[in-house]
Amino acid sequence: MPKVMIIGLDGADLDIILKAKNELTNLYNLIKRSSYGYLRSTVPPITVPAWISMFTGKNPTKIGTLSFRKIVKTENGYTSIVARPTWRGEMIWDYLSLHGYRVAVINVPGTYPAWKVNGIMISGFPSPKISTYPPDLANKLPSDYVDTDVANVSKKLELIKQQTDKLVDLILLLAEKKFDLIVCVFRIVDVFLHHVSNLEDLIEAYKCIDKNIDNIINLIESYYDYLFIVSDHGSQEVRLKFYPNVWLNKEGYLHFKRKISKKEKIMYRIAEFLASKGLKSVVWSIFYYLQKCGSKSVRTSIAAKDILDNIDWSKTSAFAFGLSGVDSFELWIVDKNKKNEILKKIEAVKDNDGKKIVKNVFRIDELYDNCPKDFPDYIVQLNEGCLCVLGQGSNYISPATGFIHRRDGIFLAYGADIKENNHIGYTNITDLAPTILHLFDIPVPRDMDGKVIMEIFKNDSEIVKRKVKYESEKDKIKRSIYKIKNIKQKPD
Ligand SMILES: [Zn+2]
Repeated sequence: MPKVMIIGLDGADLDIILKAKNELTNLYNLIKRSSYGYLRSTVPPITVPAWISMFTGKNPTKIGTLSFRKIVKTENGYTSIVARPTWRGEMIWDYLSLHGYRVAVINVPGTYPAWKVNGIMISGFPSPKISTYPPDLANKLPSDYVDTDVANVSKKLELIKQQTDKLVDLILLLAEKKFDLIVCVFRIVDVFLHHVSNLEDLIEAYKCIDKNIDNIINLIESYYDYLFIVSDHGSQEVRLKFYPNVWLNKEGYLHFKRKISKKEKIMYRIAEFLASKGLKSVVWSIFYYLQKCGSKSVRTSIAAKDILDNIDWSKTSAFAFGLSGVDSFELWIVDKNKKNEILKKIEAVKDNDGKKIVKNVFRIDELYDNCPKDFPDYIVQLNEGCLCVLGQGSNYISPATGFIHRRDGIFLAYGADIKENNHIGYTNITDLAPTILHLFDIPVPRDMDGKVIMEIFKNDSEIVKRKVKYESEKDKIKRSIYKIKNIKQKPD
C-alpha cells in the first residue's frame, strides 16, 4: 500500500504562488511537476469548518457548523456557543487507523482535544493547551511548541517562522518512522494574511515553506509515494470593510441596547485610519492590549460573539454573524415578514464610488442539502476586495488594506502515478478524503459528499483501473464499533 503525505498550508493561494514564482521557485517548480488547481472551500471560507470538511469529506451541514462558533436560540433572543467537535472519529486518519495503517496527524485546525489514532496526533488551532495522543507525547515536544492563536501574534510573526522550521523538522523525523499517512498543517500563511498589509510581507510567509520544499521532496522520493499540498481557502487583497450589523442598525433592522459612545467612535476612527495606512499590526496590538485589559467596548467592537449580548431582541428583525475577516457572513432573519425587504436592500448596498458591495445572497439550502434547523437563513458573499467585520464600528463601510480569505484555495498532488504539469481547474474541498481512501483501497463511506479526483492520476495507472470501493452495511457497522470502542465522543 502507498505512503502518503499531506501538507496543509492554511490560507495558501494558488494565484499568489504563481504571481510570485520568481521568489517561490521551489513551490513553482513543484507545481510544474504536479497535478494542481483550485480547491473550492466551504461558504463562508473559514478555517473551521473548512479543514474538517476536507478531512471528513463532508459538507458543513453534516459537520454541524459554519464557523468556530454557532448560534443558539434562547428565550430572549440569540447567543453563540463554541461549535462542538462532533466530527471526532470521522476523519481519514480514523478510517486508516481502523484498517491498521499507522498515521501521524499534526496541527489540523478543529481537532482539539486529540483523540486515539493508530499512531500519533497533536491537535491544532484553536487549542487552549497542547493536546496529544498518546497523552505523554506532549511531554516530549519542545517546551515552546504551541499552535499560534491569531489573537496574540501581532508581534510574534518571527516566532511563527521559527515554529514553521520546527514543524518541518518534526515531519522529517516522522517520515523516517515510516508512518503510512502523515498530515501536517502549517498556519503561517493564514496568520500572516490577517496581519500584513502588502503582498511583499505576505510572501515572507510562503518563503518559509518554499525554502523547505526540497527537503520534503527528498523525503517523498526516499520514503513516500504521494505528496498532497492543500489549503482550506485562499486569500485576496482588500480595499473595503463592510460592517453588516452597523448597516442593519442604520436601516432600522437591528437595535443595540447600548450605543457606542463618542469616545469609542473616535477610537474606531483612529483604528480605521491606522489600518487604512497599512499599520494593521499596530491596530492589532492596541486592540489586543485593550482586550486583555478587559475593555468590554473593545471586545464588542471586534467580536461578533459579544455583539449578540448587546442586541435589543425586542426590536430586531435581522442580524449578521460569522467571523470577521472573510468575504461572507451569515444573515439571520428574525422577523420573517421583513425578509424580502431586507434581502432587496442588502443586495443593493453600494460603496462611496457607487460599486455594489454584495456579490451573492445564497439561501442556505441552495448551498447545502439537509441543513440542520440551527443553520442561518442566508449566506451573504461580498464582492472581490470587500471584507466583512461583524462587530460595531463608526460607519458601515470604511477603507481597508491587507488580505482576507477567499473561497478558492490550492490543491496539488505529486508523486508516483500523478500526471505532471496538469492543471485540473477546480476541485471541491470534500474531494480529498475519498481520494485518499481510494489510494489505500479503503471503502468510501456513502455519506461523504466528495468524489475521487481521478483526473490527477496517469490513465494507465492501477489507481485509475481499480474500482472505487464504497462502504457496505457491514463495513459501516465495523466502523461504528471501532468508533464506540476507541474514540471518546465528548471533548474534555
Ligand atoms: Zn484558514
